Amino acid sequence: MIDQKIQDLFDNAKKIVFLTGAGVSTASGIPDYRSKNGLYTNDKSDKPAEYYLSADCLRDEPKVFYQYEKSNMYYPDAKPNVIHEKQAAFTQKRDAVVVTQNIDSLYRKAGTKHLVEFHGNLYNVYCQKCRKKVDYREYLKSMYHRNCGGILRPDIVLYGEGLNPSAISQSIKAVSEADLIVIVGTSMRVYPFAGLIDYRTNHATVLAVNEEQLSFSFPFTMIKENAVDFFDDLKVNA
Ligand SMILES: [Zn+2]
Repeated sequence: MIDQKIQDLFDNAKKIVFLTGAGVSTASGIPDYRSKNGLYTNDKSDKPAEYYLSADCLRDEPKVFYQYEKSNMYYPDAKPNVIHEKQAAFTQKRDAVVVTQNIDSLYRKAGTKHLVEFHGNLYNVYCQKCRKKVDYREYLKSMYHRNCGGILRPDIVLYGEGLNPSAISQSIKAVSEADLIVIVGTSMRVYPFAGLIDYRTNHATVLAVNEEQLSFSFPFTMIKENAVDFFDDLKVNA
């Protein structure tokens, strides 16, 4: 059961922002590639997994990059879970924004109305040569653009690449306007995403929902609970 004081915070908030990461999607069967059981540490090759998600790899070994993405990153059949669904409902019924590090498209599938995909979206694929958008299903069949022979790529932020300026400005706006900031499925340790919290105002309340205790350099309320259970119980009151 959710503490009434916590439910009240959601009910009374004027603007809510959810800052989220891989932990939100693990309940949908998508591995957290930075966690113990994630891709990074299961990688048995001689290069760190970050390499396979880098601009260098895409440029120097596009076939290797493609194989890695295709075999490890795509879960087209994954479905949103209650965390995505409740947050999506907040964006539909209330003044709320989701800013996520996830590239798995599950917030879109859940119908999130106000969404910032900070690191892009795997299912937006385009051709590096002619710049046309291509259906991701075509990409999963071939790394080459059927029309022009160019090499396709997902529209995600690779290591060594800059963020989308529009994603940065939308995220900063959402955080700076929020009076309730809810951190879910992320330990907020990876920059630049982690730096978003610095744009909060001093009247904003910060909640973190996580099974294990998190520690931050700013004041916050820790809800030490599985996020699936928490969002299952949380009511989205209009
Ligand atoms: Zn092309």
